Amino acid sequence: MVVARDYISFSKVREKLKGSVGFVPTMGALHEGHLSLIRRAKEENDYVIVSIFVNPTQFLEGEDLDKYPKKEEADKKICQLAGVDLLYLPTVEQIYEEDELLISAPKIRGYILEGAKRPGHFDGMLQVVMKLLNITQANRAYFGKKDAQQLLLIEQMVRNYFMNIEIVPCEIVRDSDGLALSSRNVYLSSSERKRALSISRSLKRGVKLVQSGEYRVDVIKEAMKSILEKDVDCLDYIAIVNREFKLLKDIEEGNTIVLIAAWVGDTRLIDNLWL
Ligand code: AMP
Repeated sequence: MVVARDYISFSKVREKLKGSVGFVPTMGALHEGHLSLIRRAKEENDYVIVSIFVNPTQFLEGEDLDKYPKKEEADKKICQLAGVDLLYLPTVEQIYEEDELLISAPKIRGYILEGAKRPGHFDGMLQVVMKLLNITQANRAYFGKKDAQQLLLIEQMVRNYFMNIEIVPCEIVRDSDGLALSSRNVYLSSSERKRALSISRSLKRGVKLVQSGEYRVDVIKEAMKSILEKDVDCLDYIAIVNREFKLLKDIEEGNTIVLIAAWVGDTRLIDNLWL
């Protein structure tokens, strides 16, 4: 595995990769969720590129940019063992210049739910993903359904800018107790972690209701809320949307995403289920 920290050395190695390339962009502190993307990329391509870059422009003032977990040595080992060919670890200066040309998230889909709670987050995310896709020149890029709105906005960017890349959505990986894996889970104390389980429990309850024939969104949301109320400290939202991120009144089977964003202690967690 080659580790590149600047664009020039990255490009020199990239040029030599003759064959299909799968790309997995991450912010590091790698876990099984990231690994599932890397494994999938490995299966479907001749070469795999992973990037680790904690992108400052997608963090809002007061968010956890400064304390975001950093585990470079462990991450390198994980990538090496997973058979990654090229690991890109750029600095902020490598990626950004002053007075940049900016990409804006769409005014509706980019500013509801996560975008409403974190205004501007998706502008910064799309900005860096555009750069990384251009730098890596991959054939396919792998993204987790865990960040559902992010995934759909990236698909939209690729469509709207006629970008020549395939976006591959990947399933959410959970711990055996149901908690969706996230680099931010390390912030949770053991009692907070227990309370955080109410999020996946609540999603499961929603699915059970649909399976039993309940399609009314307000009824499902009430039942989900009653599970969360006791355990989370602040519920940012429970939302039931279609794949265009429009709020639904009734479940549309095969076209629905149920999303939760909630705070447990000082940690903000997101999770979702696709129906
Ligand atoms: P991050 O490092 O948090 O920016 O995540 C990098 C990529 O890994 C994104 O496409 C995420 O959606 C994906 N990812 C993070 N957690 C999980 C998970 N538990 N299951 C599947 N994919 C995940």
